[in-house]
Amino acid sequence: MMVERQLRDRGIGAEKVLQAMSRVPREKFVPFVERERSYQDGPLPIGKGQTISQPYIVAYMTELLQLSGRERVLEIGTGCGYQTAVLAEITQHVYTIEIIESLGLSSQKLLCRDLGYSNIDFKIGNGRDGWSEFEPFDRILLTAAPQEFPGSLFEQLEVGGIAVAPVGNFYQKIMRYYKLPDRIKKETLITVSFVPCI
Ligand code: SAH
Repeated sequence: MMVERQLRDRGIGAEKVLQAMSRVPREKFVPFVERERSYQDGPLPIGKGQTISQPYIVAYMTELLQLSGRERVLEIGTGCGYQTAVLAEITQHVYTIEIIESLGLSSQKLLCRDLGYSNIDFKIGNGRDGWSEFEPFDRILLTAAPQEFPGSLFEQLEVGGIAVAPVGNFYQKIMRYYKLPDRIKKETLITVSFVPCI
């Protein structure tokens, strides 16, 4: 129902994304008291002032990454790990960074031990620094909003790669950046509201 009504009916067309989101058990990523609302059409609190994003926004940003399945993706803002799981369903490898240690550790346990993903690496730290050990990445996705895109992350993006992020204060625009051989091409998309990137 969520996939049909909230995603496909609103224009999410990428089958890989729709299939991934029908496989990931969203109820496992929300706190027990919110469980009945797991598939509702909006974000939910996950504790520590953070949220699990609205399903449509997860689908929308994942679709923007144009994943074929072979990419190595850097995600900044693991949170509860839901977006991480959607990425891991579709692509070869996900490197995810979370700044709040308890969130990063509980997501690692859920994704690796409980759900059995073996294609995700976790780091606790500031995602603005990227993860130089594993660069270059084919895709970079921010799920926390910086006021301006941290330009140094482009150095860890492969030429031909794509970065997607909510950028701005309070309300943000989803931005998509293409790393071309000689420059960064940018596209300004929909208005969203994400928690800030620290
Ligand atoms: N991806 C999640 C939503 C995450 S909310 C989902 O699937 O629903 C954003 C997360 O980014 C929060 O957990 C927050 O702690 C984290 N965050 C904020 N600033 C960060 C930074 N500089 N580096 C890494 N993580 C950061």
